Amino acid sequence: MAEAAPPPAPEPVAGATTTPETPSASASVSVRKANDTETPNPWPFYLLHVAAFGGLFFVEVGPEDLWLALGLYMMRMFGVTAGYHRYFAHKAFRTSRVFQFVLAVLAQSSAQRGVLWWAAHHRAHHRHSDTDRDLHSPVRKGFWHAHFGWIIEPQNHDTDYEAIRDFAKYPELVWLDRNPFLVVVVLGAVVFAIGGWSALVMGYLVSLVATYHATFCINSLAHVHGRQRFVTGDHSRNNWLLAIATMGEGWHNNHHAFPNAARQGFKWWEFDMTYLILRGLALVGIVRDLRQPPPEMIQGIQIPGPALLERAAQQLLHDFHDRLARARQEWRLPTMDELRKLAARRMPKNPHLDAIIDRAVAMAETWMPQQALQAAGKA
Ligand SMILES: [Zn+2]
Ligand SMILES: [Zn+2]
Repeated sequence: MAEAAPPPAPEPVAGATTTPETPSASASVSVRKANDTETPNPWPFYLLHVAAFGGLFFVEVGPEDLWLALGLYMMRMFGVTAGYHRYFAHKAFRTSRVFQFVLAVLAQSSAQRGVLWWAAHHRAHHRHSDTDRDLHSPVRKGFWHAHFGWIIEPQNHDTDYEAIRDFAKYPELVWLDRNPFLVVVVLGAVVFAIGGWSALVMGYLVSLVATYHATFCINSLAHVHGRQRFVTGDHSRNNWLLAIATMGEGWHNNHHAFPNAARQGFKWWEFDMTYLILRGLALVGIVRDLRQPPPEMIQGIQIPGPALLERAAQQLLHDFHDRLARARQEWRLPTMDELRKLAARRMPKNPHLDAIIDRAVAMAETWMPQQALQAAGKA
């Protein structure tokens, strides 16, 4: 785990011993400026769906519109994965200032707000994954909030330029970030001018909606469905279906284990289209220094440090949150067997299972009222 992002400590499972989170100037991505009574407005998002799918009843879609839809989907998705995510959020490779701007333009063609906004919020996701401070954790706030709800919350609308200082020093990126929908409008106008209504509806709008949902599924589903190869102290999963839909982003547990790698598919069969394109661009010199995970991680070998095991144990224990709350009154803790069952389901074949379970049991016991421990003969 040489270069993985430092695992943030999750908030305590009430009463458990935890490492306090390191305070950081950029810990809170969005500084709340808007009126607290402001409510999220999902209507533009709903209307986009109505325009895209309702519009299909009024236009005649030809094969060229379908090809355009596929082309724009791939272009936008590449902008999301290679641009917003791997380059701006994680600095997984290097490139020229000109191509950096091209990546920002491609990213913003997906209409997911400004490039600095996206990357700054994503960095916060890695700092607080699946804790109550995570902006989009499906295990904490449910599917819909992680999928889309968090984006329209007014308190998440500002860009914290402090959290993305390394790129906020480029005025052209700040300008683009402050005009988040400029590229979207220009691209739409060009598509309409060249292809008319059918190109606009099918080629542009339907593919935009598809790009939205595929990207959002990484936040909502890739922390719920799939396998965990690495101990990451969160619920990130590897999911092959999402990896195909998102050109490689579905290998999300790999990604949380080593966020700064240019590749997210570690094994040969973990299809990562974005990485293949980046390798092609590296061959012709457009990008360089594609960061790699350590070779042992490619083989699936990981030696998690104590902080990471602690975090994994806390996440494991979190599923027993209600039980722990009741245990305070009823003096009953999750048994070793119950913890083992949950851990085995969540992290099958993990060689560190016993260490995590031992830690979880020890932590649970710090929760136990002293009288109960005495009654159980443990104190
Ligand atoms: Zn994640
Ligand atoms: Zn990431």
